Amino acid sequence: MNAGPWLPVPPRGYGGIENVVATLVPPLRELGVEVVLASVGTSALPVDELLSVYPDGQFGALQRPYNQVCGVAQAHLHGVVRALRERDDIDLVHDHVEAVGLATVAALGPDAPPALHTLHWDLAKHPDLYGGFDGGGRVRVNGVSASQLARAPEALRAHSVGHVHLATPLATGADRRPRPAKGGYLLILGRITPGKGQDLGARLAHQYGFDLILAGPVGPYRDPADLPSDADNPDARYFHEKVAPHVDGQRVRWIGTVHGQERDDLVAGAKAVLAPLRWEEPGGTFVVESLALGTPVVALARGCLPELVDDGHTGLLTDDEDELAELALAADKIDPADCMAEAARRFTPARMAMRYVELYSLIRDHVFMSIR
Ligand code: UDP
Repeated sequence: MNAGPWLPVPPRGYGGIENVVATLVPPLRELGVEVVLASVGTSALPVDELLSVYPDGQFGALQRPYNQVCGVAQAHLHGVVRALRERDDIDLVHDHVEAVGLATVAALGPDAPPALHTLHWDLAKHPDLYGGFDGGGRVRVNGVSASQLARAPEALRAHSVGHVHLATPLATGADRRPRPAKGGYLLILGRITPGKGQDLGARLAHQYGFDLILAGPVGPYRDPADLPSDADNPDARYFHEKVAPHVDGQRVRWIGTVHGQERDDLVAGAKAVLAPLRWEEPGGTFVVESLALGTPVVALARGCLPELVDDGHTGLLTDDEDELAELALAADKIDPADCMAEAARRFTPARMAMRYVELYSLIRDHVFMSIR
C-alpha cells in the first residue's frame, strides 16, 4: 500500500489521500489482507510492516520550485521499487501516489507484481501521461467516482476497473447515533484553494446574511498565525487576494486546520457543509464525513457531488451560484438522521474494503490470465 512521502498515515489534520489509506487499511486487515505500508517514518497506522525512506512527511517541500523537489517522490518510490525487487512476498501493489507512482509501477516490467493505482484527483491533470498511458497488461487504475473517470482520457479509461467511492470510519454505526445539536453557522471544510471556492462562499455569506466558518490549511500553513502576508504560493495568493477581504472575524471566519474531535464537533454542529465548487470535485471525503456526522451538504452540483448527495434527501444541489445561497439558508429542511442513515449504508470503511478486495482479485486473475 503505497501512500507516498508527503504526510504520515493517518495525517494530523489535513491529508486527503493519507486519510483514505488510514480508512482502508484496518478493514482490509480484518478481511485477512496483510499490508506493507510504504509511507514516512512517523506513520502510526497499525500495519503488518512499515516501509519508509523519509523519517517524516515532506509536504512542506511541495511549495518549493520543481528543480529543488523533483527527487522527493522519486526517492520514496526508489525505496518501494528496491523492496519489490528484493522480496517475493508482495502479491499486489496498491499505489496512491500522483503521476509518478503510476509511471513507476508501469515501468517495473513483467516480473513485478500486478498493481492497482487509485486516481484521487482531477483527471484533466497530466494529459501527456494519462493520454498515452500504457500499463503493460499489469497495471490497472480505479477512480473515486464515476464522474471523475468519465472525464479521463481514453487511454487511461482503458485501464480502469471502475470506481470506488470514498468512505469514513465516522459512517460505521452512524445510523445509531442521535441527531447532533446544530449551531448557527455553515462550514466549508478543506484546503483553501480556488477549486473549493471559499471566496464565493464568503461573498455569499455577506450578501445573503449567514455565518460561515472556513476550516483548512492555506498551502503548508495550518493556522492563521503562521501565514505570512507575503507567502509566495498560489493558495496563499488566492487566500490573500480573494478570500481574506471577506474574512471579518464575525460573518466569515478562517480558523485554520482542525482535526480529531474538534473537526468532528465542528462538522456535526454546522447547519450544513457548503461546497461552492469551482472544479469537478473528484472524490469528496468531506462530503461523506459530513453526511456521517449528520450534516447536510449544500453544493454546486459539480464532479462527484450528484453521486454522493441525494438531492433533497441528504443535501441540496444546484448549478447556480446565487441559488446556492438560498439553499444554504434552507438547509434545515434536510433531516440529519437521513444523512447519517445514508452514510451508514453507503460510506463505511468495511464496504470500501470489500470493493477493493474484489478489485484486487479481479486484477490478479486478469494479470495471471494475460501472463499465461
Ligand atoms: N480536513 C481536516 N481538517 C481541516 C480540513 C480538512 O481534517 O481543517 C480533512 C477533511 O476532513 C478530509 C480531508 O482533510 O478528510 C480532505 O479531503 P477531501 O477529499 O475533502 O479534499 P482534497 O483536499 O483531498 O481535495
